[in-house]
Parts: sequence; C-alpha cells; structure tokens
Amino acid sequence: MSGIAIERASALKEKPASGSLGFGKYFSDHMFLLDYSTDKGWYDPRIVPFQNLSLSPAAMVFHYAQEVFEGLKAYRKADGSVQLFRPEANIKRMNDSCERLCIPKIDPELFLDALKTLVRTEISWVPGEPDTSLYLRPFVIATEPHVGVHASSSYIFAIIASPVGAYYAEGLNPVKIFVEAKDVRAVKGGTGQAKTGGNYAATLRAGLEAEQRGFSQVLWLDGINRKYIEEVGSMNVFFKFGDEIATPRLQGSILPGITRDSCLRILRDWGLNVTEREIDVAELANCTEAWGSGTAAVISPIGKIVYGETRYNINGGKIGELTQKLYDYLTGIQWGRIEDPYGWTCSVNS
Ligand SMILES: *Cc1c(COP(=O)(O)O)cnc(C)c1O
Repeated sequence: MSGIAIERASALKEKPASGSLGFGKYFSDHMFLLDYSTDKGWYDPRIVPFQNLSLSPAAMVFHYAQEVFEGLKAYRKADGSVQLFRPEANIKRMNDSCERLCIPKIDPELFLDALKTLVRTEISWVPGEPDTSLYLRPFVIATEPHVGVHASSSYIFAIIASPVGAYYAEGLNPVKIFVEAKDVRAVKGGTGQAKTGGNYAATLRAGLEAEQRGFSQVLWLDGINRKYIEEVGSMNVFFKFGDEIATPRLQGSILPGITRDSCLRILRDWGLNVTEREIDVAELANCTEAWGSGTAAVISPIGKIVYGETRYNINGGKIGELTQKLYDYLTGIQWGRIEDPYGWTCSVNS
C-alpha cells in the first residue's frame, strides 16, 4: 500500500498537440514532492498540483549548486499500457550522485513508488504517437537558507513530468558534432560521473559557441591529455572502427549512461567485438559509424565531427547500418514492440 498522499489539481491543463511536443517545453498537471530535514529524514511523500516552489533567496542550491537530477521516460505500448525502462538503474545512479554531492540518499522503494504513482496520476499525459513519451525528471535541491559553504541540512526531492517528442530537431538524421579543444567538462576526481547541474553549467559556453557555428552538440575531450574522447553533451558516445565497436571507458569523469550500458549489453549479446577503452580523437579518421546514446535522444547517429581544421565525415553523413539496427531494437524494447529478454521494462501498474 502506497503512503503517497495525492492532492488533485482543481483545473487541468489543455494537452499540447502531439506534433508540437518538442522536448521539455510542456509540463503535466501534477508533480511529486518529498521533504528532508535533519530530525525527520525524508518525510511527507505527496503528489500535488504542478506549481512553483517557494525558497529563501539564501537557499544553498542557488549559491553552491548542491543538486542532483535524473531523467527517464514512460512509454505507451500499442495496447495502451504504460511502462518504464530500467527505473532501478536511475534510482541507483541518483543515490550514487547524492553520495558524491553529500545529499542524503532516498529509499529506492519509495522512489520507485513515487515514479509509478506519478505516472499513474498523469497517465493521460503519456502520449501514444510514434517516438513520443512522458519524460520524468526527478531532482533534489539543497534548501537550507545559509550563505556559507557546507552540506545543507534540508532538501526537496521533486519529480516533474513532460510529454516529449524527438530530442533533436533532426530526429534520426545524423547530427553534426564539434570537438571542444579549450573548455573541459569534468576531470577524474570531480563530479563528472554524478548527474548534477554544475556539470552542465560548465558546458554552456562551448555549447553556445558550437550552436552558433551550426553544430548540435559538443564532443568533450579528457581534461588532462586533451586528446581522449569522453562524451557528447548529454550523451555517451560509440564508434565503429572496422570490426570493433568502442566506447570510452568509465574512469570517473564520464557519466555512466543507462542507455550506454544497455547498448553494451545488446551489442555483446549480438556477438560483436565491443570494447571500453581510451579512444584517441585522431582515431576518428578510421571511424565508419558513430552514435550518441542517452535517454532523451535514445540513439543519435553522428554524421560529421569537426576537430579544429579537420572534418570527419562519417558514413557519408548517413545513419550506419548497425546504428539503425540498435536503434530499432532498443526502441522496440522501450515501446514494447518487441519482447524484452532482459527484464528492463517495468509496468507502472504493478
Ligand atoms: C544523463 C546523461 C547521459 C546519458 O545517460 P542515460 O542514462 O543514458 O540517459 C550522458 N551524459 C551526461 C552528461 C548525462 O547527464
């Protein structure tokens, strides 16, 4: 029996047209909230109408960026039922991020119950058209009103929900990527493997510059040697070199993507030669397929990579055969079009 109280909104919003969803522009009628204080621990789990949060201007999140977040989706199957994809992995990763940011961990059972209860409450917000889903954004912020650097004594955990279509305007058309040579995203020992907003703040300048030059995303190199590939914007990255499929090894500065992990498992089960290793940016000359992996874009083919004066055209700028096959298989599992042999999908009704 769920201990989550539900306060329903008195007026419901009009749903956006499915063709106009884009990504992260619309929010559903309700959200989940949970509070933390030192004496009570995490308390008062509830679903309330989607509303502004009221915080002191001295709340520590505004000054010291003590926050973590997650991203996962609810998918509508052809029979109308709704499922999540590997929510336990998001829950575990958020608690790992909490550990890095000195935020108290959240009971995994309560977290899963909160995700399912919110999706059930917002079931009419889960779109059913191809490639659409309800994106869920759990996050924790430090709320103690105190200008002084230490871990906060109070927090809010919230989950908001947004009906989404394709993450990139390009859809499944290959994107153009710019290799950043000046700024770095993260270094080993920092917070690169935690899903925390500060990592993104550090990437905005390079992202803006890349956008102004007509690129969709930035490809990050390691902060020490400035030559090993790390990841792309909000995605991990895979390259095909001859018979080998390679992705950067998780060494502390890269976000351990759940889509990355799913790709590795599937590709290995297909009997392919899959490696996790250091990848020198100069190796791009031998690359025959490349794609980014992440919950938002799922699998995003990469058609062109520009590094200084060097332009790498990958597979003639077209989606590669393996990229397409992986996309079809993974999205097939996520939307319930094909059987899930891994136990990755999770009904919101049980
Ligand atoms: C969330 C995220 C990813 C992708 O992770 P998924 O679990 O596959 O969605 C990759 N890189 C960064 C920096 C991220 O924040």
